[in-house]
Amino acid sequence: MLIEDGRIRAVGSVDRDASEVIDCTGCAVLPGLINLHHHVPNTLLRGIADDVPLEEMLPRAYAIDAKLTRRDVQVGALLGCVEMIRSGTTSFHDLFFWEDEVARAVRESGMRGFLSWVTLDEQATTQRGNPVKNADAFVAKHKGDPLVTPSVGVQGVYAASEETYAKATEVAARHGVRMHTHLAETRGEVESHRKVTGLRPVEWLEKIGFLDPRVTAAHCVWVTINEVRTLARHGVSVAHCPVSNMKLASGGVAPVLEMVQEGIAVGLGTDSPISNNGMDLFADMKVAALLHKATRWDSRVMSAQAVLDLATIDAARALHVDAELGSIEVGKRADLAVVSLKGAHTTPFYPDNVISHLVYSCRGSDVVATVVDGNVLMADRIVRTVDEGEVVARAQETARELFEA
Ligand SMILES: [Zn+2]
Repeated sequence: MLIEDGRIRAVGSVDRDASEVIDCTGCAVLPGLINLHHHVPNTLLRGIADDVPLEEMLPRAYAIDAKLTRRDVQVGALLGCVEMIRSGTTSFHDLFFWEDEVARAVRESGMRGFLSWVTLDEQATTQRGNPVKNADAFVAKHKGDPLVTPSVGVQGVYAASEETYAKATEVAARHGVRMHTHLAETRGEVESHRKVTGLRPVEWLEKIGFLDPRVTAAHCVWVTINEVRTLARHGVSVAHCPVSNMKLASGGVAPVLEMVQEGIAVGLGTDSPISNNGMDLFADMKVAALLHKATRWDSRVMSAQAVLDLATIDAARALHVDAELGSIEVGKRADLAVVSLKGAHTTPFYPDNVISHLVYSCRGSDVVATVVDGNVLMADRIVRTVDEGEVVARAQETARELFEA
């Protein structure tokens, strides 16, 4: 493969000299994985609320969120970027406040960030200032950046009124950027919304005019087939987060097979490090495959190729960037992960089982090189863009201060 000016110029036999050659013998070269739903600064909160439901996790997370400084967010985000580079993720779709600090980490590490500044009702937020104005300023500042694609987030129907949804939509429409929200994650969310409004969250969002091709909705676990069709009709894409849903015991299984059948673009998200607790998409690919096979009593559903697509080209489609990302094709941006197949746990490999190995046998730690926009962020398992040891030490120290204070 020949990479030039950040793009894939040739695939196959290449007889050109290059400034750098990465030897991929015994490796699979993949389009870089895309994490479609994330809250990257929450790395600092990893392990603070395990073995409890979402309703107990959120207050604990918000209590720490309220103490976060801008510097903490940047340190947490940088730690997450290192973890993603190490495990072959080249793009992530984030939902948080102080996304300008996440943007700083994205630039420092060389990753590609689709960053959504979260909005919610002012009385429900730990953000300083007005969330909608914050989102507006963030998008205005970062629009047009090659690696940072800003967008507008909304926390979810349990934290955002019709007015907040409308204001957030106005900001996104005015700037021509995407939107990112949580939707129908738990049965509790659906039931309490119905009690208040008489409608299920998807029905309500349709009524207030929020559903639109520019929206990516995370979770969509508690949706009926009619709601799946509603999402499909409005061109909403979905971030499926199986590990987070299973760990929080949200119950039920997102009807991903029906979503795909109805033509919804579905990608894979790890969700927050509080509810995952990592961001190794190789682990999540395997879980996604097993979850749907097990609950449908059908080993044929959610094949290895289908799952790999969720983490690459389908996620790119969900973000409307599949013309540039998500597959290895001449002319696309050079976002790549080189995965070693030489480990004991991936032996033997041959052309027929490589896709299976990537989903069922590989781990993020098998990634030996990561490339974003033609820049080599990691080679020979050494991260080049930042000092990994220093990032880890700073994050450990920052978390200690946060929990002691
Ligand atoms: Zn989330």
